[in-house]
Amino acid sequence: MNDAYDFDDDEYDSADDDSETLPCPQCGQSIYEEADQCPYCGQYVTFSSSSSAFDNKPWWWIALGLLGVLAVLWWLVMAGR
Ligand SMILES: [Zn+2]
Repeated sequence: MNDAYDFDDDEYDSADDDSETLPCPQCGQSIYEEADQCPYCGQYVTFSSSSSAFDNKPWWWIALGLLGVLAVLWWLVMAGR
């Protein structure tokens, strides 16, 4: 009886260890790889299956990042004067 409980607990632990988390492409929160939708921002994610939904997205994501970097640089220059 005791052995069965112990085995069950061990199995659950290893299963929990196996599930991988990846950063959400939308908000950056760690979400499960198998998740269809991000629980934080509601963004639909497809890590394992076809990445067609992501293929036409990165351009504005990169543009947004560059804009942020430029804004910070501009602010630094203005603050330093
Ligand atoms: Zn998210």
